[in-house]
Amino acid sequence: MAALPPRPSPTIEAIFAAYEANAEDGFRLHLGASLIGKECLRALWFDFRWTTRAAFPGRILRLFETGQLEEARIIRDLRRTGATVLDVDPETGRQWRVEAHGGHFGGSLDGVALGLLEAPKTWHVLEFKTHSAKSFAELKREGVRQSKPRHFAQMQVYLRLTGMTRAMYVAVCKDTDEIHVERVAADAAVGETLLAIAGRVIHAARPLERLSADPAWWQCRLCEHHPLCHDGAAAERNCRTCLHSTPVDGGEAASSNDLRAERAGGWHCAKWDRTLTPADQRRGCDHHLYIPDLVPGEPVDAGDDHVVYRLANGATWIDGRAPC
Ligand code: SF4
Ligand code: SF4
Repeated sequence: MAALPPRPSPTIEAIFAAYEANAEDGFRLHLGASLIGKECLRALWFDFRWTTRAAFPGRILRLFETGQLEEARIIRDLRRTGATVLDVDPETGRQWRVEAHGGHFGGSLDGVALGLLEAPKTWHVLEFKTHSAKSFAELKREGVRQSKPRHFAQMQVYLRLTGMTRAMYVAVCKDTDEIHVERVAADAAVGETLLAIAGRVIHAARPLERLSADPAWWQCRLCEHHPLCHDGAAAERNCRTCLHSTPVDGGEAASSNDLRAERAGGWHCAKWDRTLTPADQRRGCDHHLYIPDLVPGEPVDAGDDHVVYRLANGATWIDGRAPC
């Protein structure tokens, strides 16, 4: 008879459960610069349209927090080298923020610095990341552009939108505390291309093209949208997945107190002809109708408050309030 697996520690379970209980839904108000280097346009569209609720186990959530906690330490380390590091914008007292496309695209910088030993007279965008030993070895061998294209893209967006010419990428190996520092030059063409991609994603009323039609493709296997994209799973119900919603310019901050507060573009509901606050968008309403491409079937009929679909198995499904 096989041995029983060891009983999990109730303390460890409780620690991770607390992370899960406090976890956010993962729905970011704007399309983040940290995502724009994803290779799959459809995944970016799904991110922006809040199709998939984040569901990370407690251990992974704690790992994310480890990366955030490291940021303050790296800032202190850089200041000890004599550099001037501004981790917040002195005018706002908040993290440096960049945005484009009416506030629907943007991101928050880890900081900016002057007096870095490699080029003391040049302002740098700062980007900090922690890495596993394997990832860190690849980074040292290939450089950030090759080994971490999403991080490279994130920095290019920040450079393009701040107008700075250099970024400093500071990476820490979580296993050994070894540090890798790399300076990255602004590449205007890359920055423009990334901004154009963001615009396409934001203004597309329908999902953009898939990276792969093969559910077993390696990036698809790692993608949080896999059940929706390849298995016919349901998308989340909120205003962003509703066919009545459209992104528009302007918007509001999610919180006036949070140093990481997101500002973002606005959203409009054609059904009620009104703008939607972030809370409205999360809540949706009883008149929600899925964007048809999110339903694994073919629309065959529609009315004011419903759409009838024929599903792949021949069954009929009515989205919304069926007529009596
Ligand atoms: S599962 Fe694959 S094709 Fe679908 S969104 Fe994710 S990466 Fe793109
Ligand atoms: S308020 Fe209702 S009808 Fe309007 S976009 Fe949101 S879910 Fe759709």
